[in-house]
Amino acid sequence: MGFSGGAGAGLLEPKPSQTIAIPVIPDSGSANGLSSPTRGTSAAVPGSGSAIAGRSAGSNGLAGPSAKSKICGRPGARLVRFRVLVESRLATTPGQFVTDLLTVLCDKRSWTGSGRVRFQYDPQGPLLIGLRSPKSTERRCMSLIHLSVNRYYSCGTPREVVLNSDRWFTGSRYWPGSVSAYRPMLVNHEVGHAIGQHHRSCPKDGALSPVMMQQSKSTTTGGNTCKPNPWPLSYEWRSVRR
Ligand SMILES: [Zn+2]
Repeated sequence: MGFSGGAGAGLLEPKPSQTIAIPVIPDSGSANGLSSPTRGTSAAVPGSGSAIAGRSAGSNGLAGPSAKSKICGRPGARLVRFRVLVESRLATTPGQFVTDLLTVLCDKRSWTGSGRVRFQYDPQGPLLIGLRSPKSTERRCMSLIHLSVNRYYSCGTPREVVLNSDRWFTGSRYWPGSVSAYRPMLVNHEVGHAIGQHHRSCPKDGALSPVMMQQSKSTTTGGNTCKPNPWPLSYEWRSVRR
């Protein structure tokens, strides 16, 4: 999932703060709050904290480690710096989440393979990648881009990626590939939105799915059924903005 429209998808978000600010969605809230793109509150993150357990980002989430990661990707490529938020009560830690994200994003089969982008975890990075419960994912995607993900899917925008924890841990019932391959597909797809990619369709029956196809829903578009594929294809690499 994610935005499929024009470049305006990120315009609904509040401007990033110069200080570390993690948007926090309350566990309960009034329905009218959903229409406000600025409904999330910002919680200051303490300057010190455990580099392993993650630092409090408010009442319902943890920010990532205080130390930056190494940069992966080709020198000179566009650097995408991301911070993280892991909602409370999920069966992972922010440190593990960062590790899992970098495992995908630093893989040469990922977007880094294009030679046009590279990635770094940075607690002050402008791109927020969050792992949220289905309910919170629904609210956040609605807030960001007025998109309902039916509490099932995830969404990605240039400033924020929202990953549905159920999909992160269990895959999708519509995905014909393995659960272990689902996670890289999910990361590559939603981070693909963050670097400016839009949805694609299955080009030919039996071909590999472009990673920007909505494979969480189906690997068939326009009567063509593609094979499940978690990695960007060469023509997707070539379309990455430097
Ligand atoms: Zn999408």
